Amino acid sequence: MEANAADQMAAQWSQRYSQCAGRMTSSIIREILKMMADPELIPFSGGMPAPEVFPVQAFQEASQRVLEAQGPVALQYGVTEGYPPLRQFLAQRMQEMGVRCAPENILIINGSQQALDFIGKLFVDPGDRVLTGNPTYLGALQSWGGYGARYATATVDAQGMRPDEAEAALASHPAKFLYVLPNFHNPAGVTLSRQRREQLVEVASKHNAFIVEDDPYGELRFEGEAQPPMAALDPDRVLYLSTFSKTLSPGIRLGWIAGPKPVIDKMVQIKQASDLHTSVFVQMIAYDLCSRGFLPGHIRHIQDVYRERRDAMLAAMKASFPQGVTWNKPEGGLFLWLQLPAGLDGMALLKQSLKAKVAFVPGQVFYPNGGGENTLRLNFSAVAPPAIREGIQRLGGVLREALG
Ligand code: PMP
Repeated sequence: MEANAADQMAAQWSQRYSQCAGRMTSSIIREILKMMADPELIPFSGGMPAPEVFPVQAFQEASQRVLEAQGPVALQYGVTEGYPPLRQFLAQRMQEMGVRCAPENILIINGSQQALDFIGKLFVDPGDRVLTGNPTYLGALQSWGGYGARYATATVDAQGMRPDEAEAALASHPAKFLYVLPNFHNPAGVTLSRQRREQLVEVASKHNAFIVEDDPYGELRFEGEAQPPMAALDPDRVLYLSTFSKTLSPGIRLGWIAGPKPVIDKMVQIKQASDLHTSVFVQMIAYDLCSRGFLPGHIRHIQDVYRERRDAMLAAMKASFPQGVTWNKPEGGLFLWLQLPAGLDGMALLKQSLKAKVAFVPGQVFYPNGGGENTLRLNFSAVAPPAIREGIQRLGGVLREALG
């Protein structure tokens, strides 16, 4: 089709899009991921698990067991709430983390991204305010932006979201909920201290807001002590989200929401209208692996691989980054967060960096209301240590050049 005709056709379609669709934009991360087809590019940009840790053989064996024992059930439609034994297993796991939780408090979903969308559908009318960290997870902004959310923010520092700023924001404008990333924050890498978890729950309670606790990375702790989820502190006020994406595989799209029963029941209606239910086959495979005790050893293996990669990245940065660039040392997860000297711009740096065939995500995309130009996020899980060293050396060169 001629370019002109193609433009006209696109315009004709876009005139008919709903207001919700009109507010949606594609993520810069997806745009950067598209470039990853270049085999020479070293990608520190995505939030990808290492493909080497995917338990392919365990999946193969579990699929076979599921098909042999319950093939027709696995291939049939299922209930919206989720495969009952998996709900039971997850409720038990939540209890082990100190959360009051029964199977009826669990909804199985297609990855926690689906929960973020459902939360937008359920709670956000155009103009409603959501309180997030500054920075925060881009995928949540994408979901709720579509529903017309506005954002209030509280700074995320070395101990996570600041309760004093959250309190001040809520005192000046009410928000429906606080969106909190408790462990190994995406993008900032930090973990919320126990005291702040308690303070944030108090702040939310005082201002009649609820909390969305998004915890995809909690199990990827390489060192230090785990803190109780906020859902353990006030289960009636918290919707807790987690996922098998970082422990088993992101491609199977399997996660869960734990929350008060009335909210779960309402979410079931939303899920029914959206996709009826999450794949029964996939849930049965995950349950097979969970019930056989596969996960703990596998997670230890992932922790070992990622700890080594984090340390390789930290050592390489120390060796080749110029003075004035600073970073944190996360105790787990997938991400390192860099502060550049004032005046440097992550977006401009990315252009130079892509020429040197290294990708990262400019930090400013994680700031709901702007700012963060001199920050950037590096992922350390997706590439092996030799490529990490090479990529960091190249990035060091780009930084030195930018600093003149
Ligand atoms: N929340 C956060 C904070 C994330 O980092 C991600 C994945 N990158 C998600 C949610 C979505 O994860 P899932 O694969 O479970 O949909």
